[in-house]
Amino acid sequence: MAVWNPWRGCKRCSEGCLHCYIHKGDAKRNVNTNNIVKTKDFEKPIVKLKNGNYKMKSGTVYLCFTSDFLIEEADAWRDDCWKMMKERGDCTFLFLTKRINRFMKCIPDDWGDGYENVVVCCTIENQKNADYKLGIFKDLPIKHKCITAQPLLEDIDIEKYLDGIELVVVGGESDYHARPLDYAWVLNIRKQCVRKNVNFEFRQCGTYFIKDGKQYKLQTKDLMSQARKANINYKTVN
Ligand code: SF4
Repeated sequence: MAVWNPWRGCKRCSEGCLHCYIHKGDAKRNVNTNNIVKTKDFEKPIVKLKNGNYKMKSGTVYLCFTSDFLIEEADAWRDDCWKMMKERGDCTFLFLTKRINRFMKCIPDDWGDGYENVVVCCTIENQKNADYKLGIFKDLPIKHKCITAQPLLEDIDIEKYLDGIELVVVGGESDYHARPLDYAWVLNIRKQCVRKNVNFEFRQCGTYFIKDGKQYKLQTKDLMSQARKANINYKTVN
């Protein structure tokens, strides 16, 4: 597994961005997150060793985790990234986006039905954005589609958008001022995934976690392990 951040910086664009970890980290270091800049790793996938092999190994590459891959400010740079992804057919590139409405403006000329080695995760947090973004996402030419509902902010119904989705990830918010996550919402999405036979993963609890009507405060270090302990992930059956 590798990480490739060709640029950094992002602008808040939806309710889920309120406690964005990039903004929080940058604030501590006095960095202006709204300033979107290329990083020194821009060409990371195609950098070669002296022996001619690629420095970045084959496998899954998490793309653009210090920004949003579809952010407007990066429009002039993205085509070079698509070319690198195409060259590295031995890698699978996965990115999350809160800007799926920009997708068709961002793809390269030879995209066709999508590159086989690109996974796109559409991020949603409430019913309003689910209806708007997943309504667009369902019709887009993408070979591998996932949905990330994190931070999940309310009970949502996404069942009608699950055709062709490979995985739904659900999680809560991690922050001193985090909005609570109700376990009933998590179970409801799981139920929808099981009905549609779509992989489901409960990735992390929220700092404020409600179960059976009672609210608990959890430590950040425990958020993922507590979700794992719930043991409710679902793997598709053929
Ligand atoms: S889109 Fe993602 S990276 Fe950008 S501000 Fe929102 S949460 Fe942060």
